[in-house]
Amino acid sequence: EAGRLAESMSYQIYAVGGFVRDILLRRENLDVDLVVEGDGIAFARALARKLGGRVRAHKKFRTAVIVYTPPGEGENGKPLEEQKVDVATARLEYYEYPAALPTVELSSIKMDLFRRDFTVNALAVQLNPNDFGRLVDFFGAQRDIKERVIRVLHSLSFVEDPTRILRAIRFEQRFHFRIGKQTTRLIKNAIQLKLIDRLSGARLFNELKLMLREKDFLLDLLRMEEFDVLKAIYPAFAITQREETLLREIEKVLNWYALLYEPTAPRQWLLGLMGLTERFSDEDARGVATRLAMPPKDRREFLYLRKQCMAVLEQLNTWKYEDGSRSGLYFILEPLALEGILFIMARTRDEDLRKHISLHLTKLTHEELEITGEDLIAMGLEPGPHFSQILRAVLAAKLDGHAPTLLAELG
Ligand code: ATP
Repeated sequence: EAGRLAESMSYQIYAVGGFVRDILLRRENLDVDLVVEGDGIAFARALARKLGGRVRAHKKFRTAVIVYTPPGEGENGKPLEEQKVDVATARLEYYEYPAALPTVELSSIKMDLFRRDFTVNALAVQLNPNDFGRLVDFFGAQRDIKERVIRVLHSLSFVEDPTRILRAIRFEQRFHFRIGKQTTRLIKNAIQLKLIDRLSGARLFNELKLMLREKDFLLDLLRMEEFDVLKAIYPAFAITQREETLLREIEKVLNWYALLYEPTAPRQWLLGLMGLTERFSDEDARGVATRLAMPPKDRREFLYLRKQCMAVLEQLNTWKYEDGSRSGLYFILEPLALEGILFIMARTRDEDLRKHISLHLTKLTHEELEITGEDLIAMGLEPGPHFSQILRAVLAAKLDGHAPTLLAELG
């Protein structure tokens, strides 16, 4: 569809980047990146009309994003998930090498690919009908995918953009590739030159979040430690045995939770960051939030969750020895965000407590308070602030299995 449309507008069109890489790796990837030699935004508008989607355009970068829902139904008759197509414009231009090498003229798709992070991401497939499926590989991408190596396209790549250090590690671990020899040297150089210091907090935070969303993020963090990248981000960051154990538990808890197929997914990055900063002073925790220029909401939540978790761990200790009731546990965990509850599960070494918390997550949080204030009024009680206390007592009685007695008493 995109190929025919581009052809009718006399544009060359390519699918590029991670989408093509993942086809060769036979991995699913629903995010399509297109590059158009022509007016990318006009093309995106035309394609969106055909697909019945919306377009967000960035005139300055000549890029656009199309969001649309593919026709048809998924499993169990639900509509299919929304899909995103990124469209970029490639233009013929003169590329000044950062090191003042001679200026060269490149065809626009070649130019576009040359700006990318790694060879494995610098691969394009043409989509115009007459050349449909033609691979455009100027930089040895197919060879590197076959050999399973992450390689930059030129020696100043990390100077141009130090976030690529984190990206290299992320792709290496995700695909079980190896960062190439020369690229390894370039990373070490970049770290020594303190290039990470030049990165804005927002870009670092974004890249770190992407990393912490990976399935086996501990491997990424260990590799970061190996390259001394963690320290370069914030001096107090370190993966000692303690962090490694905790982060491994966090991964286990996340895997367990994923199997429950709950509708809300925990923010994995928040849990990862909690694990990384577990032994930090409050001052260092604030320092990390500042270095990463965390948006106020994330910052508040992160700092508050740390405090809350420490307090809850203490409360749970008391609960275990002095109370032990389901309702007691419910009211301790109730104010905690999901990430906090999962963190506590990972952090505690008390197997028994962990079982209680898992029960809380799987059963108790679905316990609905079936009576409402109106029911109480209907029972002839005077409305007032004590209502919330009564409702709480009813919920507690229900959790602890003696609701009928309590309701009879109230009645
Ligand atoms: P993922 O599966 O994690 O989404 P992806 O390869 O699709 O991987 P994106 O971050 O969505 O990664 O980026 C899309 C493409 O844009 C990449 O394949 C890469 O070619 C290019 N790219 C992204 N970030 C950079 C960067 N910092 N420097 C150069 N090229 C980049």
